[in-house]
Amino acid sequence: MSSAIFSAKFISSPSDYGTVCPVFRKDFSLLKPICRATLTISALGMYETKINGTEITHSRFNPGWTEYTKRLQYREFDITKFLTKENEILIYAGNGWCVGNLVKPGLNRIWSDRIAVIAVIELEYSDGEHQTLCSGPDWECAKSEILFSEIYHGEEINAGIVANSWEKAAIYQWDTAILVPFEHVECQEFERLKPQQVIYTPKQETVLDFGQEITGYVEVTFRGNPGDIIEFDHAEVLDKDGNFYIGNLRSAKQNVRYICSGKIDIFRPHFSFQGFRYIRIKQFPGKICPEQFTAVVVHSSMERTGQFECSDTKLNRLYQNVIWGQKSNFLDIPTDCPQRDERLGWTGDAQVFCKTAAYNFNVSDFFRKWLRDLRACQAENGGVPSVIPDALRSLEKPKSSSAWGDAAVIVPWQMYLAYGDKSILEEQFNSMKAWIDYIRCQGNQEALWDTGSHFGDWLALDVPSGTYVGATDPHLIATAFFAYSTSLFIKAGKVLQRDMSEYETLYPKILRAFREKFQKEDGTFYTDTQTACVLALYFDLIPDKAQCAKRLAEKIMQNGNKLNTGFVGTAYLLDALSENGYTELAYSLLLQQEFPSWLFSVNMGATTIWEHWDGMRPDGSMWSDKMNSFNHYAYGAVAGWMYGTMAGIRPTEEAPGYRHILLQPMADSRLQKVSASLKTAFGTICSSWQQEENGKIRYSFSVPEGTIATIILPEQPVRKVFSGTYQY
Ligand code: BGC
Repeated sequence: MSSAIFSAKFISSPSDYGTVCPVFRKDFSLLKPICRATLTISALGMYETKINGTEITHSRFNPGWTEYTKRLQYREFDITKFLTKENEILIYAGNGWCVGNLVKPGLNRIWSDRIAVIAVIELEYSDGEHQTLCSGPDWECAKSEILFSEIYHGEEINAGIVANSWEKAAIYQWDTAILVPFEHVECQEFERLKPQQVIYTPKQETVLDFGQEITGYVEVTFRGNPGDIIEFDHAEVLDKDGNFYIGNLRSAKQNVRYICSGKIDIFRPHFSFQGFRYIRIKQFPGKICPEQFTAVVVHSSMERTGQFECSDTKLNRLYQNVIWGQKSNFLDIPTDCPQRDERLGWTGDAQVFCKTAAYNFNVSDFFRKWLRDLRACQAENGGVPSVIPDALRSLEKPKSSSAWGDAAVIVPWQMYLAYGDKSILEEQFNSMKAWIDYIRCQGNQEALWDTGSHFGDWLALDVPSGTYVGATDPHLIATAFFAYSTSLFIKAGKVLQRDMSEYETLYPKILRAFREKFQKEDGTFYTDTQTACVLALYFDLIPDKAQCAKRLAEKIMQNGNKLNTGFVGTAYLLDALSENGYTELAYSLLLQQEFPSWLFSVNMGATTIWEHWDGMRPDGSMWSDKMNSFNHYAYGAVAGWMYGTMAGIRPTEEAPGYRHILLQPMADSRLQKVSASLKTAFGTICSSWQQEENGKIRYSFSVPEGTIATIILPEQPVRKVFSGTYQY
């Protein structure tokens, strides 16, 4: 990677262009034959580059989202094949995350006041001579055809405009020391979906249904007359009357407006994306032609590693919804949702979902990059902001919520288990330590976290409808996570051969404090909720687990085999049951079809995972507009149980990254068969089971070269096997 970019200058438009996106230009000639040419580039805002009229990359939304004041990725592109004797490079730039409106109306320019780009073209001539063209005052700038672009609100393009009033670019002072090389995670276009149906709604609106909720944009190919307008809005769902519903977008407009040039135009937003399944056509010249519209899925490029299928079509749909939830929200960083005026890197959501994410796709580089931003945002006292990058910093008093800030420890640990790469622990070790030490300093008692405000068991149903924080004492949750994170931190330290004795002394103190403060003499908790029991079991916080598991099971059964957990409890609910002798009940929860349950949303036609169990109620009414996303991956953590318990594929701590595999499927008579596979660095692991006619279950496994598997089946001796295929 060349270091010439550090000699270039950030350039911006010489005057305020209002909402219009600038385009920067540099013309240059090749003096003689070249053997190689590169462009190294970055921007405050987003950029797209054309050389001699051709886009140089298919990746989108560069330079990605980082904590821009501390880390800004630059990227090197080989541009040799685009060059001729005379060349024109155009760099279009938009607000993106860095300069645009985020979080709430009126909050703009969180990281930078202006859009600015920095670039260097390096020419390597065949005779060995080098030439370098750095962005600076000799580069030009003009207003582009992109009249408006905001992530939340959409884009307006007038294809009839050709930039012509070129003026000298201004220098924008910005420290190049924050530039970091590209971290291997780019956003790209993936599936292309055609409208499944045209709907004329009761409100007389024309709506196109793409049949699947996605994140991305709609591409329109059309030849109109100059000045013809195509305009549409995006939405996730229709309301109970079948009308286009945008209430839950809050201030996000998700509106796109294209003005035709008179030639064949191919329109798509450049610096904006939407979360949607439906579009409402507001303007179209003449009769609407649905075939002209294509929904394009955009997300971070991640290799698909996991597959799961079973004999229940609704569970299969739920699994697909989890996959779509991940695609929709892994757009350079892990976001909560892709549609309303939020789309932020909420740490709690990422924390509960990261294990499942690592089954579905290879997310090793994706989380490595995000954790670097987490470290960049971590406060000096170790506190971890609620969102990474820290878009909320100007609004919130520094707030570090338990279960959210614990992402600093849980995410790297899960990545280590999934990929077996110690370097993620090495990189994150000091940040983990700082987080644990931060908690130790909260309140008067080192081993207890009983101060501060927390998100608690966010959106649990064990409180009156409309309440955000569940009934479980937030300090019980805080101390439970304190214990859990400390236990993982100790393990991480041991992997790295550090002296962890200080934390080994602390850990039993936290357990003692947890029991003394939150448990009554009879072992029940003061807030004896499903979630309290789940955490105590899954995090191993109490001695009498059997009694606690029994209580948890009773609570669920008394509730009609239904859960009432929120973001925190749900992630571990099925594991807490199946690891403590209640696998059948875990299956009952998973197979539950009535509200509240995972399959309830499937029955209601969901194609992604909802934020709320009651986002849409059985009667079709909805949770308040204020916070009602239909594309939040948090409850999709359940797919981790599908891979890890139904199919039984798990990594082990002794030899992570699936060098040593645990195969321990747990079957249930309500399903005919289950099969799952997972691509690892060693090859693909397969696990399946099927009910046979004789009432027995046939288990099949495939164990890749270079690994060992421990196979544990009911009422059978534990087997240790090497690579091969096995049937029992
Ligand atoms: C987000 C969540 C997030 C939460 C914090 C919400 O607005 O959408 O997913 O974790 O706030 O409690």
